[in-house]
Amino acid sequence: MRIEKLINELLKKEQEAFLVTNMKNIRYLTGFTGDAGKLLIMPDKQYLIVDGRFTEQAEKQCSIEVVDYDKSFIKTINKLAQSHNVKKCAFEGNNITFNEFDTLKKNLENIELVSDDTTIETIRMKKDKEEIEKVKHALKIALETFEEIKTNIVPGVTEKEVATEIEYTMKRKGAEGISFETIVASGKRSSLPHGTATDKKIEFGDAVVIDMGAIYDGYCSDITRTIFVGDMTREQEKVYEIVEKAQQKGINAIKAGVSCSEPHNLVVDEFAKDNLAEYFVHSLGHGVGMDVHERPFLSPKSSDVFEPGMIVTVEPGIYLPDNFGIRIEDMVMIEE
Ligand code: ZN
Ligand code: ZN
Repeated sequence: MRIEKLINELLKKEQEAFLVTNMKNIRYLTGFTGDAGKLLIMPDKQYLIVDGRFTEQAEKQCSIEVVDYDKSFIKTINKLAQSHNVKKCAFEGNNITFNEFDTLKKNLENIELVSDDTTIETIRMKKDKEEIEKVKHALKIALETFEEIKTNIVPGVTEKEVATEIEYTMKRKGAEGISFETIVASGKRSSLPHGTATDKKIEFGDAVVIDMGAIYDGYCSDITRTIFVGDMTREQEKVYEIVEKAQQKGINAIKAGVSCSEPHNLVVDEFAKDNLAEYFVHSLGHGVGMDVHERPFLSPKSSDVFEPGMIVTVEPGIYLPDNFGIRIEDMVMIEE
């Protein structure tokens, strides 16, 4: 069970308690899908604290004790922590506001607070069977959608119309949402790595970068395709081949035990052969799960190592300002 993995980490680090406030982490650890709640984890006892709107749902979805809060979340958390003699409690510093931290500090009597944004995130990097199936399904929805809509990308339709059709089609195929705002960047706009769709009409000769993803049962997918309306120019064809080859190099380098920074560096070296390295302006990829961007990051700064169960993207791109851009993004799962 996932919650046991966290408890093992707490025991290893001699941490007495963990207050989880990130709703995705709460869903990951307990199965609770409501939109408000706090999770207090101690090695010998765990509580999901909710308000009255979610009591019934939480009791159905979780196997740990569900507590209705009394007066306020913070007073209830304090009461429970005191009853277990907690003196030190981890919390998710990246997930709470300054004011929420202030409230915690004032109300948790004689409890030292330590920020911890790595323990749960590290566990989440390696997906279990159930998670892998959900990501695969989210990916299937995105891939099928692209195949279905690509023939409708013709001169005269706007980027927004293409994005809307993508999002509608993904939902029709069972997506509960989109992983992020769909990117459709055509013509000169394709050199913008994050060109969200505008009212610009797609024209003959345009490169069109489409970056899209679906959410299925809480899990994301993320793919990018670059297509050409009409014939490619010699230059476009050459750059496309270079990006495709670099992507293959990056994918081939991914193996359990290899540093997550290595594929990025190999791709940069590959681009450097054609003097294009300066036009690759982002990192090679990222982990995908409940968040569309999560650890491990395939960046030169990453200190993570590939392990079986990780799912990452490999997305090299070349962006020639005021000319065109090309990105290809696929998802890769690491196995033994
Ligand atoms: Zn993407
Ligand atoms: Zn991505």
